[in-house]
This record gives sequence, structure tokens and C-alpha cells, in this order.
Amino acid sequence: MTSSARTARNAPAAPPYEPNEIEPKWQARWAEMRLYETDLDDHSRPPFYMLTMYDYPSGDLHIGHWFVKTPSDAISRYRRMNGYNVFFPVGFDAFGLPAENAAIKSGVHPREWTLKNIATMRRQLKSMGASWDWTAEVVTCEPEYYRWNQWFFLKFLERDLAYRQMAPVDWCPKDQVVLAREQVEGANRVCWRCGTPVIKRDLEQWFFRTTAYADELLTYPDADFPEPIRVMQTNWIGRSEGAEVAFTVAPDEAAAGEQITVFTTRPDTLFGATFMVLAPEHPLVDALTHPAHRAEVDDYRYQTRRKSEIDRLSTDREKTGVALGAHAINPVNGERIPIWIADYVLLGYGTGAIMAVPAHDERDFEFAQRFGLSIRQVIAPLGFAADQALAEAYVAHTQDEVLVNSGEFSGMPAPDGGRAIVARLGQDGQARAAVTYRLRDWLVSRQRPWGTPIPVVYCEADPSCGIVPIPEDQLPVLMPERFDYRPEGGNPLEDDEAFLRTTCPRCGGPGRRETDTLDTFVDSAWYWWRYLSPHKEDGPFDTERERTWCPVAQYTGGAEHAVLHLLYGRFFTKALNDMGMVREREPWLRLFNQGQILGADGERMSKSRGNVQDPDELVARYGADTVRLFLMFMGPWDQGGPWSPTGIEGVNRFLRRVWTAVLDPHGVESGDAKARAAVKKAPDAAAEDLLRHAHRTLAKVTDDHAGFRWNTMIAALMELTNHLYRVRGTDAARSAAWNETIRLLLLMLAPIAPHMSEELWALRLAEAGEAWTSIHTQAWPAFSPELVAEDEIELPIQVNGKLREVLRVPADLPQADIEQRAMARDKIQAQLAGHQIVRVIHVPGRLVNIVTGKEG
Ligand SMILES: [Zn+2]
Ligand SMILES: [Zn+2]
Repeated sequence: MTSSARTARNAPAAPPYEPNEIEPKWQARWAEMRLYETDLDDHSRPPFYMLTMYDYPSGDLHIGHWFVKTPSDAISRYRRMNGYNVFFPVGFDAFGLPAENAAIKSGVHPREWTLKNIATMRRQLKSMGASWDWTAEVVTCEPEYYRWNQWFFLKFLERDLAYRQMAPVDWCPKDQVVLAREQVEGANRVCWRCGTPVIKRDLEQWFFRTTAYADELLTYPDADFPEPIRVMQTNWIGRSEGAEVAFTVAPDEAAAGEQITVFTTRPDTLFGATFMVLAPEHPLVDALTHPAHRAEVDDYRYQTRRKSEIDRLSTDREKTGVALGAHAINPVNGERIPIWIADYVLLGYGTGAIMAVPAHDERDFEFAQRFGLSIRQVIAPLGFAADQALAEAYVAHTQDEVLVNSGEFSGMPAPDGGRAIVARLGQDGQARAAVTYRLRDWLVSRQRPWGTPIPVVYCEADPSCGIVPIPEDQLPVLMPERFDYRPEGGNPLEDDEAFLRTTCPRCGGPGRRETDTLDTFVDSAWYWWRYLSPHKEDGPFDTERERTWCPVAQYTGGAEHAVLHLLYGRFFTKALNDMGMVREREPWLRLFNQGQILGADGERMSKSRGNVQDPDELVARYGADTVRLFLMFMGPWDQGGPWSPTGIEGVNRFLRRVWTAVLDPHGVESGDAKARAAVKKAPDAAAEDLLRHAHRTLAKVTDDHAGFRWNTMIAALMELTNHLYRVRGTDAARSAAWNETIRLLLLMLAPIAPHMSEELWALRLAEAGEAWTSIHTQAWPAFSPELVAEDEIELPIQVNGKLREVLRVPADLPQADIEQRAMARDKIQAQLAGHQIVRVIHVPGRLVNIVTGKEG
């Protein structure tokens, strides 16, 4: 009789792993213990503010929510175990169009629809077993929250960071309503409800002056942001240096003497400016249009108002435009050049007018060719003459470019020539060096009732009152209890007499309330401060706590917010810092963008494609811990990837194996008989070896936490579990080393598989007769440097016989583990992409050669 068979009979059989019993039980227990409620005024431990983007309450949590939130929870748990006082709040970005669409359809108030969805999502979120502090929950559609949006609006108004100006909106001429961007459908841009072509219409609207911080928003002195986000923000802000040049309308024109100012980054090309193009909305268009061109111009302007900005800026579209029949004088050479309008020039960018230099700009070149306008090369590589018939715009940049065809400036190096031209024109006030930005101020007005009412009154009694801010002590301005939506949509506040009628706070006469509400991005531009004191009544947030907890230590969320939310939050922080309200100028110290989960078919998950994974279903089938681990194991967190139905089975099997190893160490397991025989021969050495592996794993897992490398972390835990199975059922499984390995394994699993680790921890404490303490209050273990030191070998990894990588691996690492590590390397992955692995040739201690064939 072997010893393992004997002990197997004596050991109690392990209870089966039943996540659906374990998980709700521990979730309830943690809530009851208030385990994750943070004492924000406890200064005994270092603070760690862990923030994950709050969600729109669509009423249905999808797998993408799990993909961002459960690793964020692991970060929080890991920090707690490392002695930090962690704050990990949760909330809802509760205003939004879907609630209004539901209201228009069913007559239910958007608030009712929203709160119902929030209740559903709370339940779904709680099923993750995440360590959120629900006492800090923020719901932005509650007056206790949105009153502070109004308060910020008033503060911005005082400081000239909020102002009112005309701006175009999408308008349905049939329904006579303003449409939200999402309500304009299809390439033909028609009304979602009646199919009528949508047009642009100008309305007075409110703006926040984000451009006041344009330069500062380009730098990130205190913030660790992913490179792609910085690039997107930088391009969005679009700072360019150049010159403003004034062109004068020719003396024989109707608008003679009027100046048209353009901004150019290439003043060195001024001699090549052979025509001008104005935005169709440019204020001078009417005055400049010759009677013979009037009908054509009017028609073109109407067509333009049908187009979105994105359409207008699209580069692959054929250029359109019409001539006004007027001319301007090019200040550098006195030449008469024709003035056109074209929709690729936008009023909001720069000055709404450009000088066109077709020889050196692709768009202008295309336009000039199409309409037979003259093209004159004025820049050429040193030693080359100008080309009389350019086949395409010359935009190449060489080191040595000089001005040609440029009068007295010909022969000068390009940048110097540009400066010289600006200097000369500057003497007559016709040019000056200037900087422009692509960034425009933030349009915060929305013509919808379900949002924060903008707290101003239009006085109807005394014209000298004008637009009157509502005094702070009269906030909040509440939205009505019911909205009488017209079936065609639009803003019912405009017809709501009870809401509209008020008194002017300045003169006491009759006044009318603003009916626009604030963009929901105003809510999300400051919500993380509100979490610190969600019910505070005498201010937007507790400043004392802000000083302790902010800036946020780690922020996680989607990269799709790069140029909206992530820019607006930074704008708010700078504005509030200038008001002395917060101590930081950057809101988030470190930002991480997770990738996206795709359907099993590699496409974006969507209901119409039928490739959506329902997390509730998966939790019911496998348990939350499996779903959490699977999402972390799929690949690097910042990349995401396609869903794999087999992968989740593998992860579930891993957890069940851990379960069995912990509860039934002496059971016999089928497996590598040769390896087990070696263990049996030398149990003490085998135990020592196991412990070394446990410490090496701990070192790796600790390191992987720092870089959020969940997939390699879990792979290491799987390797350790494989090792346990080589020892299980032998005398080495009775050793202190075995027990210590199990203890370390559970602690390492605690941040990522919080329920199962807690259950096994409790069972072990009970078996040892010790009092229960939660695994989530334990300290993160330290590894022993001595045990971690290991013999390593260098192993060449080939793909199809070509050396691609040299892997350093422990000398005793099993072959399968070596191959797994080799295939996980970026360089190898790059080689394998799109190929099928035909076979792997592994010469132990010498090399690994992966042989591939074509996919499919
Ligand atoms: Zn319509
Ligand atoms: Zn008044």
C-alpha cells in the first residue's frame, strides 16, 4: 500500500466548488462587516484613490463593464493588502438621451426610467464581488448633485469662463425641434423621427471657455497618461504657429476696403496664394457676392447647412465651392485674386477664411484643378527651378528649400523667407506672427429637459438687467416634476409656463428662465471630488478631504473618452485650482485605458450581430471569480480581444483545481507519473522545490501587479498549481512547505478571485481551529530573496528555424510552461499572428522551434 493511497482514504473528501453558494454568501458578509467602507478621515495609512469611470445607467451591464471594473477592483484589493487606505467609489452618470427617448415613447418620466435601471445595475455590479464603497455612491440626476453643476456654472460666469454666443444646432424643419447629434440619422442626415433632411440653425448657446487653458492642456507635468491619449488630445487642441495676414477687398468691389484676415502656418508661400476661400457662413459673404452669383451662392450655402462638420472636413470627398465674383488684393504682391466659398473651410476654425496656395497644399491643389484656378510654385528644393505644370501639390519637406517666384524674397531659405515676409508686411500692419488652436470652447447648452437647468433668468421688465444669474442661495433650480413631451420631441421646457415664469433676481420684475440644460459631460468633469462627500449640502465637496485624497492615484476607463471627458476633467481641475478650490492642476496622476472585448467572431459585440456575452448568464454558469479571471487572462489588459468560449472553461478548471488541491491535498490525481515518482523518491527536496516555486511566483505576481499584467500573473499561478499537482498525494503534501505554498497561493488569489480565496481561507482557519479573519484584511506577503534566487538558462526561441527571441527561464521549468512563456512573448506573438502553429520542436535546454503554416 502506498502512502498516498493510505492518506487518500483517511482524508475527508473535499466539498464540491459551488461558486453560486459561496459568492453571494461572502458578498453579503462583506457588506454586513462594511469591509470596503473607507474612513476618509483616517490619516494613519497612506491614501490611495482608485477611480474607475462611472457608467451610464442603460439598465444592462455588459461584459465590457466587467473588463474594466474587475481588474480595477484587483488593483484596489492589492493596494489594501499593501497597507493603503483605499477609496474605491462607484456611481452613475445618470442624465442622457436614452431616458428621454424612453419617456417620449412611454410617457414615463426619464427620472423614473433611470432610477429603475440604476437599481438593476446595482444588483449586477454587486454580483462582481468588487470592493466598492457603496456609501459614497453618486447619482448625477439627483438635485443634491446637479445643484453643484449650477453652482460651478455661476462661478464660471463670474470669472468669464462661461459665456453666451450664437452657434449652429441640428434642426428638423418639419418638427420644428432641435435634434441631438444621435437623433440625426444616416449619411443623408435626416430626422430620426420623420425622415426630413436636417439643417443647421443658429441659436444663442452657452459655452465654457476651455480655450483659456489651451496651452496648459498640452502639457502633463504631474500626470502619467498613455501616449495615445496625449497624442489625441494634442491633435485635438491643434496648436499651430504661423502668421495672420490681412487681405483687402479690391477697390472696385462692393465691399471695397474691407479686410479679410487669414491665418497661415506657411507665410513663406504667400506669393503662391492665387485665390481665397471663405467659409460659406463667413459674415462678409453677403456683401461680397456679385448679383450674378447670388442664386448659386445662396443654394450652396443652403446645401452646406445640411452637412455635418465631419462630412465637410472629410478629405476623400470631391471638393465643391462657388465663386462670389469678388476679388481681394494679395498684400505681398498687389495681385487681384478671386474669392470663393467652399464647405471645407469652417467658420469656427481659425478666422473662417484661408489664402489658398494650390502649389503647396493638396486640398487647395485639388480645388484649383477642379475649377481651373491658377497654380504657382513658390517653394522648391535648393538648385531646382519652379515646375511650370505641377502634377500634384509640392508638400515634401527637404532640409534645403528656398523661395522661388517670390520677388525680392526669392532664394531665401523657406523658414527665413516666411519670417522676412511677415516682418515686411508687419510694417504696414498687414501681418503679424500668431498662434491658433483647433480647440474650440466647450458648447455646454443642450436643448433638452433631462439635464441640469442652467441657472439664469432673462429679465423681461428692465432691459438693463439682461441675463441675470440666479443667486447661489436660490439653488438648485429644479427641473419640473413632469415633462409634457410633444410627440415630435423638442424641449418641453419651452412650453412649460410654470417652469418658465419667474421673477428677475435683480429688479424683481417678470423674468423667463433659461430652457437649455447643461451637457452631461459637465457632470462627469468633477464627479470624483463629489465621491469624497456625496451628500454635502454647503459645498460641492469637502476641501479637507480633497487635500488628502486628490489628485486621484489611478484612473481606469475607455480611450474613447480621450478628447471629451478626459479633456473636460482636466479643464475643470485647472479652473478650480485657479479659484483656489483644489490643490492640484491635474485631476488624475495615472490613467490606464483597457482594450475592448470583442465577440467570439472578432467583431464588436452588438445585439444585432448576436455575439454579445451576457455576464449574468456567465456568472450563473461559472461564478463571478471565473468570469473575472477569464477576462484578466484573455491577454494584455490594454489590448482586449475576442471572446473565447473554450478559454473560460480552462480558467474555470484552474479554479476547481486550486479548490481540490487546497481541500484534498492527499487525494490521488492522474497526471505525470514520472514526475510524481521523482517527488516520492525525495520528498524533502520536493517540498523545498515547491516552496521555492511559490516564492518565485510571489515575486512575479508582485511585479505583475505593478504593471497590471494580469494574464502573465494568472499564467504563473497556473504553473504553481501544476506544481502542486505533481506533489499532491505524496508525503511532500504533508510538509510545512506545502502549507506555506497554499497560504501564499490563496493570498495571491485574493485580489483577483476574492470569493474563492475567502472561502478556502475560512475553511483552513476553521480546520486549524483559528479565529476567522477575512483574507481581504491580510497583508500582502513578502517573498524571500533567497528562495527566489534560481538557476536560470537562456533558451533560444525560433520561429520556422529563425531565431526570434532568447528566453531566460528557470532551469527546472517544465517544457509546457517554457513553451507557454515563449508563445506569450511580444516578438513571438508578432511572428505567429495570422499563422497556425503546425508543431513545436523542443530540445530541452537547447532550443524551442515553433513551426507555422498559413491560417485556414
Ligand atoms: Zn422631424
Ligand atoms: Zn430685471
